[in-house]
Amino acid sequence: PKMIIELRKKGPKSRRIFVSCMNKDKGGIARKACTAACIGCGKCAKECPFDAITVENNLAYIDDNKCRLCRKCETVCPTGAIHTINFPLRKPAETTVTAET
Ligand code: SF4
Ligand code: SF4
Repeated sequence: PKMIIELRKKGPKSRRIFVSCMNKDKGGIARKACTAACIGCGKCAKECPFDAITVENNLAYIDDNKCRLCRKCETVCPTGAIHTINFPLRKPAETTVTAET
């Protein structure tokens, strides 16, 4: 395969965030091939406060010159296609416990 390796700038503490997918097929087809594929839904681009994400040909791309590493895009991605490196682990979501009667 060609054009699947891209050098990305390191952020502070060597942090990086990127879309770990090169599949340009339409969402359903991409998802069939890989459950963690980018389906081009655009949720990450809408969420990004710094306009760092573009979606073209069903595939999102993060511009590391604009990205401020806030991780908001990672949170909304429905497939987990956005990968983060060298960030601290997220705290587990708080769970509500209800007593049975
Ligand atoms: S980490 Fe934040 S700034 Fe970077 S692409 Fe995602 S939402 Fe945008
Ligand atoms: S939210 Fe995830 S699946 Fe949707 S366009 Fe962004 S990276 Fe792709």
